[in-house]
Amino acid sequence: MSRVPLMAANWKMHKTVAEALAFAEDFLPRVADLQGLEIALAPPATALHALGQALAGSAVALAAQNVNAEPAGAFTGEISPGMLAETGCRYVLVGHSERRRLYGETDDAVAAKARALLEAGLRPIVCLGESLEEREAGHTLAVCEAQLEGSLAGIAPEHAPEFVVAYEPVWAIGTGRTATPEIAQEVHGFLRDRLRGRFGASADVLRLLYGGSMKPANTGALLAQPDLDGGLVGGASLDPESFAMVCRSAASRRA
Ligand code: PEP
Repeated sequence: MSRVPLMAANWKMHKTVAEALAFAEDFLPRVADLQGLEIALAPPATALHALGQALAGSAVALAAQNVNAEPAGAFTGEISPGMLAETGCRYVLVGHSERRRLYGETDDAVAAKARALLEAGLRPIVCLGESLEEREAGHTLAVCEAQLEGSLAGIAPEHAPEFVVAYEPVWAIGTGRTATPEIAQEVHGFLRDRLRGRFGASADVLRLLYGGSMKPANTGALLAQPDLDGGLVGGASLDPESFAMVCRSAASRRA
């Protein structure tokens, strides 16, 4: 089953509008010749509109880092799916471990966001992954399974090809410590299996990304695994040259 790899940059709380536009100007020519993969950039919300305009007409998609599940209302500081769609977003991260850990996002909240995005025609990138303590206690697969089920609750099977799941072991995010390709594949294979149980053959179409200290030097080996269909990249996506190298490596892996 061939799945077009997706390489998504998560800039977190980095880059002003001017910096995001400077990145696009440098980055777009570097990846203009790449075929057979999809690239997305997730800037802070303040840069969505301007970056969306800069990316229009290119093959690089716009993504957001968070969303509120409600369409409108008295939710100070929040942004709805429709507002994100208006900026040109195609993808939206939900349930990133930083949001789960620092802002108390539960699986229920993540699932509500994912459902609202799908209803608005946007594609959720549903993030999950175990902590170091959970891995060391031998609970990795159970934790990932519970997060997968909880975070996809209520999603109709016809939406399965439209969402993306990102496995991001918390101990590998921003630490420089990457999961080995074998560790990542073990979890990805397990998740694919669980998704098949839930969504049938659609599970072979949807993409499973790996995230956690992905960089030019390890992208090729990670994406050589059969169930790794791309990456969610934090630190290494902040520099246009480094993220272009990561994308190039992903493109050559599937060529
Ligand atoms: C992330 O935050 O999604 C991430 C994978 O970060 P990093 O690449 O810096 O580990």
